[in-house]
Amino acid sequence: MIIEVDRDADAGAVAALCDSLATGDDVAAWPVSVGGRRFVAVSGDESRVPDVDAAVVVGRHSTNTRGYWFVDRANGVVPSAVHVGATPVGRGPLWCAAGPCALESFDDAVATGLAVRQQGAHALRIGIFKPRTSPYNFQGKQGPGVKLLPELKAVVGLPVVTEVLDPRDVGLVAEAADCLQVGTRNMTNQALLKELGGAGRPVLLKRGYRTPVEEWLRAAEFVVAHGNPAVILCARGISSFDSSLRFMPDLGAVLAARERTDLPVVFDPSHSAGRVDAVARVALAAAAFGVDGLLIEAHVAPQRMYQPGDGRQAYDPAKISGLMAACTEVRDVAAGL
Ligand code: PEP
Ligand code: MN
Repeated sequence: MIIEVDRDADAGAVAALCDSLATGDDVAAWPVSVGGRRFVAVSGDESRVPDVDAAVVVGRHSTNTRGYWFVDRANGVVPSAVHVGATPVGRGPLWCAAGPCALESFDDAVATGLAVRQQGAHALRIGIFKPRTSPYNFQGKQGPGVKLLPELKAVVGLPVVTEVLDPRDVGLVAEAADCLQVGTRNMTNQALLKELGGAGRPVLLKRGYRTPVEEWLRAAEFVVAHGNPAVILCARGISSFDSSLRFMPDLGAVLAARERTDLPVVFDPSHSAGRVDAVARVALAAAAFGVDGLLIEAHVAPQRMYQPGDGRQAYDPAKISGLMAACTEVRDVAAGL
């Protein structure tokens, strides 16, 4: 349940309201400010929540039916554009974050970063904590890799999007990166989502490859309800019975998310395609469905990547500007049909 309080309410009165709502261990209440409005979010057994008639209360919003309220577009609370570095993502020019799957060779990361920047990418994507399907695959440079980010950013001159896997690393990664990615395998990690609520950085939330759109929106709600409305939804393909592409492009999810929330929606064609010759095609399809941006794996020397699967889907950085121009055109054309 969400209780809306007066914008000008005294912080002490809101804290007192939280205390009066949090009865025992089974109900928790905490203050949230989103979109210039102020709320108290309440979790737990609703039958134990006392009726509130505090002077600061201006409304009560039920979260029972869908499990989300902040991200629901009907409520006009979450932003339709989220900044990554200085660039807005959402309701404007097509945004592009591109770069290596993982930070491996620093020189290759620099060369790829400079190449994608020269091609007009707005951000460098790069993995430092890597979720892998086998414990024997390269897990990323992890902590020591995070320490390399300031130099990488300074040399490349782009904001960085990078994944965080463990709630305990959120603070460390948030200090060095401009946007924190939640991977498909972690979309339901609620401890991580709650921690990201306090990260002070935008969150790029990938859709779980086996999760319905409603669950994806509830995952976004976790981040917003814990204090961070700067969420970018990222579709990236879902499992299906057909493996012609690694993950079936979930284009309908773009429309569904658009209908239900104002949050920006971007697409990752790389993990959906799983093979470089299909990346541009999937990106164009996503553009036709009106996405706000693309997250693309690119590398100057795919043959040097540690995981052959990463190399197979790495796009040529030199083609990014042409791809973005084509996607922009397709998006515009599709919008007018
Ligand atoms: C990635 O972006 O490198 C990644 C691991 O993506 P996903 O979580 O979508 O598989
Ligand atoms: Mn990857």
